[in-house]
Amino acid sequence: MELAVVSGKGGTGKSSVTAAFATAGERLVVADCDVEAANLFLLFNPEHDTEQVYIGGYSAVVDNALCTVCGMCESYCRFDAITRVDGKIIISERSCEGCFFCSRICPVDAITMVPGDRSRMYSGSFRNGRMVYGRLAPGEENSGKLVNMVRNKAKRVAKDHGMNIILLDGPPGIGCPVISTVTGVDKVIIVTEPTMSGLGDMKRVHEVARKFTGDIGVIINKYDLNEAMTDSIEGWCIAQGNALLGRLPYDRRVTEAMISGKSVNEMFPGAKISIILNKIWNKLTANE
Ligand code: SF4
Ligand code: SF4
Repeated sequence: MELAVVSGKGGTGKSSVTAAFATAGERLVVADCDVEAANLFLLFNPEHDTEQVYIGGYSAVVDNALCTVCGMCESYCRFDAITRVDGKIIISERSCEGCFFCSRICPVDAITMVPGDRSRMYSGSFRNGRMVYGRLAPGEENSGKLVNMVRNKAKRVAKDHGMNIILLDGPPGIGCPVISTVTGVDKVIIVTEPTMSGLGDMKRVHEVARKFTGDIGVIINKYDLNEAMTDSIEGWCIAQGNALLGRLPYDRRVTEAMISGKSVNEMFPGAKISIILNKIWNKLTANE
């Protein structure tokens, strides 16, 4: 069973919830699909047994010894990545989108496309099972593809180790990496917070998730900071046919635990929030 935890934006407590689920009991595979800002590895400190290079796009590089400074590439690059400085062609690695156009039109083949090979996927073990995660290097692209690579690896690892549950920590937002995370999973869990923007972000990610799975559940984090808004969110969820998985109270010990490299239910097992999180997890995985 694959479960994906997502949120419409960062800062809703999604990773704290995932961390609590990851340490709630069963041995499982955790896959951090937030490849642009992976953070669960900091908490779980996995021992790696695999490190794999991910080619995150290409950058154009000019050989100034061959270049005749005809200016064609400069005028055709629609990302304004090519400029002429002191009579020399300069290509900005930061602005280059790796479209290959300049390398194809250069009349003297002075431009080469170089693969971006600084991104990595890691796989290893952590204290409650196995962990897979990707880290996209700054400026490298196609994070959706890296998410797919992480998910495929997580499935292989689960099979090899006889583990039935794969828990995916999704990226924030509603872009391609989120689509790559939720496509084909058994259940999507949306973590939201009781604010107007929380409601709006939840609706947006719900809109995306429901195209890819029929089973969506919602957790309202810090519900007690605005109970009227919590009621509105719950009303909307019921109208949409989503499962209300639970309300989590605000508890500063969540942050305290994370700073100490633990989930809240590991560090404060008797806290109300830990008990609720364990109950939600047990219900989600009851048939596994
Ligand atoms: S198209 Fe080729 S030769 Fe012309 S300026 Fe660009 S790199 Fe130089
Ligand atoms: S590869 Fe595309 S984006 Fe990059 S410099 Fe060449 S034309 Fe511009």
